[in-house]
Amino acid sequence: MSGGVLIFGEVVDGGLHPTVRQLVNAAGRVANASEVTLCLAVDGSFDEGGLDGVSVGEVVLFEHPDAVSDGIGGVYSLLTELVCDAVERFEPGVVLVGKTDAGSVVSARLAARFGASLASDCIDLALNAEGRVAVTRPVHGGSALAVYEFAGDGLQVVSVRPGAFEATEGVSGMPQVDRVDVSGIGVDGAVPVLVETVVEESEGVPLEQADVVVSGGRGLGGVEPFDQLRELCGLLGAALGASRAACDAGWIDHSHQVGLTGKSISPTTYITVGISGASQHMAGCSSARNIVAIDKDREANIFSHARYGVVGDWAKVLPAFTAAVAELD
Ligand SMILES: Cc1cc2nc3c(=O)[nH]c(=O)nc-3n(C[C@H](O)[C@H](O)[C@H](O)COP(=O)(O)OP(=O)(O)OC[C@H]3O[C@@H](n4cnc5c(N)ncnc54)[C@H](O)[C@@H]3O)c2cc1C
Repeated sequence: MSGGVLIFGEVVDGGLHPTVRQLVNAAGRVANASEVTLCLAVDGSFDEGGLDGVSVGEVVLFEHPDAVSDGIGGVYSLLTELVCDAVERFEPGVVLVGKTDAGSVVSARLAARFGASLASDCIDLALNAEGRVAVTRPVHGGSALAVYEFAGDGLQVVSVRPGAFEATEGVSGMPQVDRVDVSGIGVDGAVPVLVETVVEESEGVPLEQADVVVSGGRGLGGVEPFDQLRELCGLLGAALGASRAACDAGWIDHSHQVGLTGKSISPTTYITVGISGASQHMAGCSSARNIVAIDKDREANIFSHARYGVVGDWAKVLPAFTAAVAELD
């Protein structure tokens, strides 16, 4: 592929954000490791040891004292400047970022700055016959997948859905690491400034990072049954999710909502209880690897997505299921 791939990875708590190793895996679909440059904006707190096993041609650490705090003060304005600088330096053919809060903002601004095309929220990548990138994205609220190719020969900017790719587990060994002092880069002119941050209250494992998610829907019929789901979550180390109908009913906080207007999740196993599988719900879980559905209606749409399904009343099925899981523990 011409120009190679530049991954603009995120740093959190002095280490790699979970999406970084997923992006390295995604880059492998369209380029050899030697053609991939991983660029990280870091301050003095970054621990290089976390790069062990990251299989790319080169890691470039962009050192800036405000690199990590940018999201707090300048709403990713500095990160935008840094990624634009990286593109000017390395002239990649493709830029990959995670579709996180930061990645969503930075990728859109980067594409606008360079007059490039942006494919957002992609779940797969491939090369077409011309050596350009073809991406797969969920469309129509997640009920279908579409493949798009980048026209022309300009820069291709791709944001990748967190969890759509597994994290690479490369052979142990440090990649080549270079450091670039970019402390001279600043943000000019009017920039949006974050006025207030309201920390979302969440219980248990964060939904977006969970390997197993258990969700409840309107079929549960009230608040109390969610305690039974919590018990199952505890046994499985799972995160607790919900349909919008259950959230709107006030049975559980909206921070648990999965779907088009909720969270996008990509667990290995997604267990749904009393959820019909409306397209807007499926939009948030279409990249779950295995769906296990419990619903009393055998015609429910969830069963057309589920690998395993139980047709029955959750009040009878769930306790037996939970007891079986407890026995395995
Ligand atoms: C713009 C827009 C955005 C939306 N965004 C979202 C979103 O982000 N997330 C989301 O979830 N929805 C979203 N919705 C709503 C969506 O269309 C559905 O209304 C919602 O997902 C339905 O939730 P549900 O499956 O829990 O309820 P229902 O569709 O009512 O399904 C309940 C299921 O429970 C089963 N059931 C009932 N009793 C039992 C029992 N005793 N045992 C076992 N099964 C039982 C029923 O058979 C049924 O299949 C959105 C809608 C719109 C228009």
